[in-house]
Amino acid sequence: MTTCAIVGINWGDEGKGRMVDLVSQEYDVVIRYQGGNNAGHTVVNDYGKFALNLIPSGIFRREVVNVLGNGTVVNLEHLCGEIAKLREAGIEITPENFKISDRAAIVFPYHVAQDGLEEGRLADRKYGSTKRGIAPVYGDKYMKKAIHMGELNYPDAFAAHLKDVLEWKNLTITGVYHADPFDYDEMLDWAKQFGDQLRPFITDTGAFLRKAHAAGKKIMYEAQLGALRDIDYGIYPYTSSSTPLAAYAPIGSGAPDIRVDRVIGVVKAYSSCVGEGPFTAEWFGEEAERLREAGGEYGAATGRPRRVGPIDLPATRYGVRVQGATEIAFTKMDVLSYMDEIPICYAYELDGEEVTEFPFHAVLDRAKPKIKTVPGWKRDISGVRKYEDLPKEAQDYIELIEREIGCPMHYISVGPERPAYLVKTDHGN
Ligand code: GDP
Repeated sequence: MTTCAIVGINWGDEGKGRMVDLVSQEYDVVIRYQGGNNAGHTVVNDYGKFALNLIPSGIFRREVVNVLGNGTVVNLEHLCGEIAKLREAGIEITPENFKISDRAAIVFPYHVAQDGLEEGRLADRKYGSTKRGIAPVYGDKYMKKAIHMGELNYPDAFAAHLKDVLEWKNLTITGVYHADPFDYDEMLDWAKQFGDQLRPFITDTGAFLRKAHAAGKKIMYEAQLGALRDIDYGIYPYTSSSTPLAAYAPIGSGAPDIRVDRVIGVVKAYSSCVGEGPFTAEWFGEEAERLREAGGEYGAATGRPRRVGPIDLPATRYGVRVQGATEIAFTKMDVLSYMDEIPICYAYELDGEEVTEFPFHAVLDRAKPKIKTVPGWKRDISGVRKYEDLPKEAQDYIELIEREIGCPMHYISVGPERPAYLVKTDHGN
């Protein structure tokens, strides 16, 4: 199989970065196809511990080419900072191993400001934005007011385009939010200062990908966030502004004509959700605190404590379906080792009825979790490397979830480090 997407099945933070870091050793190209620097992957490897917001996790492998596709949105200043940090740690980043689509949209400081102004206006009805300007820039994209990375290569046309767009944007900033307008010269200087550093990486990623694919190179698509944050299929409006679904991967990378053969859906052994929105299986108080601590559930991009709870089968089943997952990577099994009994949210109660299908987002806040428990394994499994060496209770838990979500488990992750995993079955990949 030559193409593979690694995607989140739930609310994000499932451990995708760790899986990409592991699986990318079989691939030649790793692509981010949506989102911006609003979320992060944490990767632990020989170079250290890194929170990557924009750069694909394949950057740690010398031979891998890393791509930011046209479906992504790029904050120039943030990306320059990320490159600098990786270089400091001794990682080489060159136009050969890192490429940015000429059609990716630029996130400007006025997008970041607008994001904060809107969350401020919403006050206690806020959507839980990370305030990185992501919703405003995707909004601009569909209003046809985005500025593309490739325009940085044509300074005169870029300056004229920015002037037009900023005039329009300032109408919103001053008229709607009564804030100070953004200064054109400052924006132009900002774009030049950081854009000049990035220009060597900007290219037609579609042309690159087609050539790589034709030459038999193996391509991996790396998603940010999870299915339940998808703008079309997620818990709208508490979603991202982009499409983290595997079906979008070819479109958001530059080569819609290259199909995805293998879809690895990443599911965590329990649930977590950062930010606002309905989260039916949520735990509170001491038991939540214990799980949060055990799993280190604090946002990689923001440091915010994540909401946590047991695995949620209606949500996970839905995520598997909309992602079209062909196999599952089940992460953070080791975190549950402290529990006497493992809780599972197997259904919701909605208006007096038991439902096992994930409901329409507008009624989700009325849903209550229905919980059952299975026996825990109560021993450290972080050193286990073979499926048959897992305690029986852990195997039973995995197999129950596998049956319930209707998708085969392939990888089982038992620690954040690269070798801390085992393979359940070989599904011919
Ligand atoms: P992502 O956005 O889906 O990549 O997820 P995050 O990086 O936000 O969160 C995953 C976190 O869990 C990171 O800190 C990983 O190092 C860590 N992690 C991933 N897999 C495992 C695992 O199997 N066990 C443990 N204990 N930690 C893991």
